[in-house]
Amino acid sequence: MNIAYLNGQYLPIEQAKISPLDRGFLFGDGVYEVVPSYEGKLVGFLPHLQRMNEGLEAIGISTGWSENQWLDLCLKLIQQNGAGNLGIYLQISRGAYESRAHRFPDKVNPTIFAFCFEIPPAPVADKSHAKTYTVSTARDIRWDRRDIKSTSLLGNVLHYQQGVEQGNQETLLYNEHNELTEASSCNAFIVKNGTVITPPLDHQKLPGITRQILIDILRNDGNIVVEERAVTMNEVAEADEVWITSSSREIAPVIAIDSVPVGDGQIGDVWLAAQTLFSANRFNY
Ligand code: PMP
Repeated sequence: MNIAYLNGQYLPIEQAKISPLDRGFLFGDGVYEVVPSYEGKLVGFLPHLQRMNEGLEAIGISTGWSENQWLDLCLKLIQQNGAGNLGIYLQISRGAYESRAHRFPDKVNPTIFAFCFEIPPAPVADKSHAKTYTVSTARDIRWDRRDIKSTSLLGNVLHYQQGVEQGNQETLLYNEHNELTEASSCNAFIVKNGTVITPPLDHQKLPGITRQILIDILRNDGNIVVEERAVTMNEVAEADEVWITSSSREIAPVIAIDSVPVGDGQIGDVWLAAQTLFSANRFNY
């Protein structure tokens, strides 16, 4: 049974009911998070919570919840759903109000919803077992506040679907200057001559927690140089390796872009080194 949380109650997800007047439904007016948990152990709980709180502040929603309340919610969901490999989904919308008006209602309680879904086991640093990705490319058509993990995901959904319809599993996105932003549901990295390079954070991309943890792990280790700088799509095409990162995938090797092999079309050695370090340190965040 899938036990969810909705506004103070734990209940089977089929019984969780949200008003059609909820602004999350009418306007996509809310933010969300996905925190991975492997066998009951959370990865990056605090950075995920910090990003969520920054998103809530950016859109003017206040829950009044403490760090401990959020942690308690995550642990209760794990307890009630069995400690397998879970993505813990947290969503806060501005709430349900009696009329459909764009302005923020003066008095409305946020809707707090959470549930778990199964994710694959934590990736292992082994080339013969790694899941490889092929991707499409597209001009990024999303809004200018992609740093907020908003539930308004239509742009992301359309970009992802383009990749699917072209037989791929993601879409790499670029801005008006032909610079890589991210993918529709992941951040993106390239490797050139042993250096790991990823676009710097700004309003054009989500500050991914996997990205943050990976950069921190690589810099602490010190054996691989990491650069945060603009990356053109020409550099992407000439990269030795390309990776996409997200909480449920960790570091995923991309082996073809628009049907053209990346490097030699195989998983690279820098991926192996990076995923090895990530696997050894994921529970330290
Ligand atoms: N960018 C976008 C657009 C995303 O939706 C996600 C999360 N799926 C990411 C990047 C990666 O973020 P994280 O590492 O925190 O999962």
